[in-house]
Amino acid sequence: MLNRKIDVHVHAFPEKLMNAIYSWFQREGWEVPYDGWNAEKIFDYPGQNGFEKFLVLLYVHKKGMAPELNDWLFEQAKERPEIIPVGSVHHEDDVETETHKCLGELGFAGMKLHCQVQNVRMNDERLFPLYEALIHYDKPVIVHAGTAPVDYTGTVGVKYFAQVMERYPELKVQVAHLGMNETEAFLRLAEELPGVMFDTAALDAKSMSDQDAFPPPEQFKEWIERLPDRMMYGSDFPLLNGKSSEIERQFVSLDLDPAVKQALFYDNAKRFWGI
Ligand SMILES: [Zn+2]
Repeated sequence: MLNRKIDVHVHAFPEKLMNAIYSWFQREGWEVPYDGWNAEKIFDYPGQNGFEKFLVLLYVHKKGMAPELNDWLFEQAKERPEIIPVGSVHHEDDVETETHKCLGELGFAGMKLHCQVQNVRMNDERLFPLYEALIHYDKPVIVHAGTAPVDYTGTVGVKYFAQVMERYPELKVQVAHLGMNETEAFLRLAEELPGVMFDTAALDAKSMSDQDAFPPPEQFKEWIERLPDRMMYGSDFPLLNGKSSEIERQFVSLDLDPAVKQALFYDNAKRFWGI
């Protein structure tokens, strides 16, 4: 039985944009059981399911969107202390100014970079001011740097991540989705880099891969046990191709030492995010 839980990967946007994102996933063939849920409903859900805090991640697909979205998230988080806000910036924005606004003035916990959605490689030098600001504030970045579910844009992969970490080895990073489909390579790099953590977001066969190619539960157990203090439970709620509770159950039911499981669901997030 888990005593305490934090979800390190939840998404919410203002209503119009949220609905456009639900539609995008539906066009991709996803079920999206939470279709139509607005921010209010999204923010109520983790608490109803035993999560005492949760990170809310923004992402942007166009230049100029980030400032307004970051301000929106700031207003939401002011009303709800259970929200840990994570901002976003587009590589064609004034990256330095917007990142400093988020991490300084708005007091965000970190930043999110979605290489696929933004259509930018992690090693793009327009992102260097982002990494430098994060290091300055000693705050983490969450990156969707892996190739799962599909490398739509040719911008993701462990090689770009490795180049950034070579330049900024002190950067704190939460690698989303366990770095799938290159988890082994990400884990090997993380062994040498103490500031690299992983989240389990959307790790169910329907969301991240076709059933045949998806790793069995023993594989997840083995990955978690290899770096047990680096793994954090994240759901990707509400952008899921299935029920959040079913995905959570996959991890709750893994045959892990209770201390490792508690670290996965709470302790590691608490320590890494300072919450
Ligand atoms: Zn996500």
